[in-house]
Amino acid sequence: MDIIKELKSLKETIWYNPNYIYSKDIIDDFSINVEDVKKAEARLLKFSSYIEKIFPEVENGIIESPISKINKMKNKMESTFETTIHGNLLLKRDDLLPIAGSIKARGGIYEILKYAEKLAIDEGLLRLDDDYTVLAEEKFREFFSKYTIQVGSTGNLGLSIGIMSAKVGFKVIVHMSSDAKKWKKDMLRSKGVQVVEYLNDYSVAVKEGRALSDKDPNSYFIDDENSKDLFLGYAVGGIRVKEQLESMGIIIGDDKPLNVYLPCGVGGGPGGVAYGLKIVYGDNVRCFFAEPTHSPAMLLGLSTGKHDKISVEDIGLDNKTEADGLAVGRASSLASTIMDKLLTGAFTIEDKKLNIFLKLLYESENIFLEPSALAGFLGPIFTSPKYKNENITHLCWATGGSLVPNEIQLTLRV
Ligand SMILES: *Cc1c(COP(=O)(O)O)cnc(C)c1O
Repeated sequence: MDIIKELKSLKETIWYNPNYIYSKDIIDDFSINVEDVKKAEARLLKFSSYIEKIFPEVENGIIESPISKINKMKNKMESTFETTIHGNLLLKRDDLLPIAGSIKARGGIYEILKYAEKLAIDEGLLRLDDDYTVLAEEKFREFFSKYTIQVGSTGNLGLSIGIMSAKVGFKVIVHMSSDAKKWKKDMLRSKGVQVVEYLNDYSVAVKEGRALSDKDPNSYFIDDENSKDLFLGYAVGGIRVKEQLESMGIIIGDDKPLNVYLPCGVGGGPGGVAYGLKIVYGDNVRCFFAEPTHSPAMLLGLSTGKHDKISVEDIGLDNKTEADGLAVGRASSLASTIMDKLLTGAFTIEDKKLNIFLKLLYESENIFLEPSALAGFLGPIFTSPKYKNENITHLCWATGGSLVPNEIQLTLRV
């Protein structure tokens, strides 16, 4: 197959999804539907007073990030790559999300809250119509401390789940793959999280974590490869984009499409966001996933139709990349199944280009992102020629960066 040859060559490439189709019915035809996303948004709203109580820095208890115009970056990209980017260039600042400093704040925190709610209700300690700020009381923390949360992660999901679980009162164990950066492990340990390190990649950390959790009846495993709750937390971020853009005077419609470029690891984060975007914008939004040339798990799974039944190792790739958040060799079955029809395309990017974008963005806009979060920037360059006659808005989804310690930011910026 041509696409496999292309991926094996490690050359940057863009793939347009021949299965793409949009209709209102399709959105509701998956294991997740529009109603589920609305419920997740309502649940997050209900928890907002509690979130504000335990994390006073979270304004109104709503975990959300701004969107900004980045014209100076657009000019820099055009001159550096000798190209023209037609239309607007925007940046979604999930690097600034409170608590976890990455897109994982959306899914991870939502799933932990939902689980805490269920435990407390089942125990008769909480009622659905209660004011959820009571959950911050000592008796709840004591109750939650009987339970353990476990998760496998390349880094950021561990940060999100670890920080949130510890704050709620759970015991928490994070199983970290070999890609996970040292500072992420250090930060978790400093917050009382137990970190288990593996010499293998993400899939092994997840497998071991799941097996250990399954042995303990009081342990709950956050399953990044299959979790609907993670997916729904991310999807809420997608549906909120419409109002944000409208408040900036940007109305997306039939003659004014939106292209969104999302860095993709296992696929839950970008998949959830894309699903939410499809709910509010339908056919007028085109979603693209961005992956490292060494870890094109989703592109491979979708283009071959094999989803999670094929890994990048199966075609001889090593799944080694500086983009730790994207160092995943096999796509999520849940996310790839849903994206099979909804995704417009996917592309790959070389590590060295992530570093070029990192510096360009810092120099032009004074914004620092972690390497994974820059993968989307190749999107406008790849797609602009194809859509040049349209009145288009390009949105790069910045997925993380604000928690990266200063001394490490310095080494990445040179
Ligand atoms: C996790 C992560 C992603 C991708 O999310 P997946 O759900 O793994 O696809 C992208 N960027 C950053 C910084 C991440 O931490």
